[in-house]
Amino acid sequence: MTRSTEENQSTLCESEFLQQDFTLLQAKSQQLTPQLKVHRILPQRDLRMVGPWCFLDHFGPVAPSNYQAFDVAPHPHIGLQTITWLFSGELTHLDSLGYQQPLRAGQLNLMTAGNGISHAEIADEQVEHALHGLQLWAALPEHHEAIEPDFEHHRELPHFALDGVTAELIIGDYGKHKSPATCYHPTLALLLTTPKVQTVEIALEREFEYAIYVVEGSVHSHKQTVKPHQLVYLGANRKHIQLELAADSRVLILGGVPFAEPVVMWWNYVSHSGDRLRQADADWRAGHRRFGEIPRYHGARTLGPEIPAAVAW
Ligand code: MN
Repeated sequence: MTRSTEENQSTLCESEFLQQDFTLLQAKSQQLTPQLKVHRILPQRDLRMVGPWCFLDHFGPVAPSNYQAFDVAPHPHIGLQTITWLFSGELTHLDSLGYQQPLRAGQLNLMTAGNGISHAEIADEQVEHALHGLQLWAALPEHHEAIEPDFEHHRELPHFALDGVTAELIIGDYGKHKSPATCYHPTLALLLTTPKVQTVEIALEREFEYAIYVVEGSVHSHKQTVKPHQLVYLGANRKHIQLELAADSRVLILGGVPFAEPVVMWWNYVSHSGDRLRQADADWRAGHRRFGEIPRYHGARTLGPEIPAAVAW
């Protein structure tokens, strides 16, 4: 997934933007491609990060008749890991390491950009189900931001019951459960689904900060009711939280240890250094080999917006 070229691309993620606990945020609507509107939850002016999570998009559902045109052209990333997760439908990931990986509902595509990777995402021609999913970016910690790029596909992730709710552990640890997804910083993405009204207690780590995003249904906690396309920021320093889930709810719990040092973002680049962003942008424009090539993709790559000289990081 990529950020569009129209939106404000410069994001400085610092503690001054951190919210009060239980602040409710509404996703912003973004036109990612002419056919695809997404709900952008992170980053927002009022909340830049949750632990290492610096980006969250919720896309679809897009009917099969409309999403054959879904096509995210080759674009670069540095300094982050991307997670693509589908609730339904199918996408194919192509990248400059040579991976060509179909993704189906309940599976995980995890791309570690590190020092540089480029990728494209295309919809398969024969599909039955609407395209509906999430894309998340986790910033890499400073000492890992320039690691070698990598890609992982996980067909199976830990599933378990929590007070009658089904939990899927996308990344991180929960109790005795551990996701096979590689991560470089204490991080959690845990998906809860329930067909019926259910109260569930979630164990938390005191040093993590957390947020809950509602995909479908609703969740009630601490006098707040959170609805689809809304996120509630929970803050840190809590051992557990009780959530009341409505029938047919699907909610994502995001967490992680906040970085001590600021993170900067421009377009699809994330770094702890503005100079690294500028170098990445110059290298991508010059066709530098750090971003490789995607020979299987037929079409032009996306250059992205120019970084104004006046941007100060
Ligand atoms: Mn991308």
